[in-house]
Amino acid sequence: MKSIGIIGGGFSGTMTAIGLMKNSTAKIQIYLFEKDNLARGLAYADIDSHLLLNVRADQMGAFPDDIGHFYQWLQDKKIECEPSDFISRKFYGDYLSELLNSAVKESAAVVKVKIIKNQVIDIDTELKKIVFETHAPVKVDELVLAMGLKSPSGFNFTDIKQSDEPITIIGTSLSMVDVVVYLKSINYQGQIIAVSRRGRTPKEHQFYDSSVSRPVYDFTKNHSLSFVFETIKNNLKIYEWRLGIDAVRPHSQFLWSHWTIRERSQFLRYLRALWDIHRHRISPVHQKILEDLKTSGQLKIKTIGFKPYTPTTKIVIKCHGPNQLNNHFLQKLIEKKIVSEDCFHLGIESNKKWIHTIGPLRRGQLWECTAVSEIRVQAKQLAIELLAAL
Ligand SMILES: Cc1cc2nc3c(=O)[nH]c(=O)nc-3n(C[C@H](O)[C@H](O)[C@H](O)COP(=O)(O)OP(=O)(O)OC[C@H]3O[C@@H](n4cnc5c(N)ncnc54)[C@H](O)[C@@H]3O)c2cc1C
Repeated sequence: MKSIGIIGGGFSGTMTAIGLMKNSTAKIQIYLFEKDNLARGLAYADIDSHLLLNVRADQMGAFPDDIGHFYQWLQDKKIECEPSDFISRKFYGDYLSELLNSAVKESAAVVKVKIIKNQVIDIDTELKKIVFETHAPVKVDELVLAMGLKSPSGFNFTDIKQSDEPITIIGTSLSMVDVVVYLKSINYQGQIIAVSRRGRTPKEHQFYDSSVSRPVYDFTKNHSLSFVFETIKNNLKIYEWRLGIDAVRPHSQFLWSHWTIRERSQFLRYLRALWDIHRHRISPVHQKILEDLKTSGQLKIKTIGFKPYTPTTKIVIKCHGPNQLNNHFLQKLIEKKIVSEDCFHLGIESNKKWIHTIGPLRRGQLWECTAVSEIRVQAKQLAIELLAAL
């Protein structure tokens, strides 16, 4: 029986496994290797229930052909909410766990699934064997790397429970918002100082019904960075800015893959920070928490520019985005030339035909590939490709 191994049981790995189970007609063996939070990953772990999804419930379905599926699941579970609500991320983890368990049961006659709860530390490419920290090696025919991008924060939400010592948060993006929301939920009373080069924080979502007109972009004839930038800028004069930004999203992978290295570099250098705060928005609930804490003076957002910064507090929480370079396993794969990094160190690409990548790891090739809406498409496509390759 042919076998497929998947390293990482977050959203990417779980949905690839489910895609395989749903589509396989031949008998196959799936191995899911996960060291921590199966079917939850970094984003949907069993964390504080105050932390909300930053996408509306009716857009978070795990399947590309049924985006309302998560909302329907919430209804079935009698969890009271509107389609446009921002739901606790914990529920999303419950949803994924249930999807995985059901798929395993429903496909049991054809697909064998073995979950190995262990850390993968190496890949033997000669023998196609996966090497673990404390488990015997496992041989596979095809392998999926779905390890996500490890967060460097190392922040444990329970660490600060008993203290009101001032805290510095390095970074003012989505992860900072998570930490602040958590601190508020435990009634933390100390001073919070969040610092970043430009002191920009994510913008807030707003609800628009389907009657509101939206721009339609066409970048097929001209996709140069300057043309794209001017087109969006002009549209933002006509349309509400959120609609102008969101309408770029279906084009962003196309644009990124067609830009020259120079254009990508210019985007990353001059536009990325601006893009990120407008594109990756937060729920109105989280926005209100930030505003209230800023108004009361408990939260200060500081712009520190590009000079080195030394925090003045004893507790420092690093929230400056994911950085896969901190991941020893990936480093090893790069050194052994099993995978290569792109020139901006955004992600990796496999150098072996039998090894595949999915999710945020593909940022170098696709740029926009970290959210559920992109990964659910990738997972389905990859599952079909893998089955064809066996
Ligand atoms: C805090 C947060 C909130 C988000 N909220 C939303 C949202 O509301 N809406 C949305 O669309 N997107 C959201 N996202 C983005 C998106 O859902 C995630 O990027 C997505 O979950 C990525 O999934 P993944 O499986 O690729 O990576 P991860 O979730 O990071 O999972 C990777 C898994 O691999 C495991 N792993 C890593 N290395 C090894 C190893 N060597 N051996 C064994 N296991 C290993 C890890 O333990 C982990 O469980 C959020 C992301 C984050 C971080």
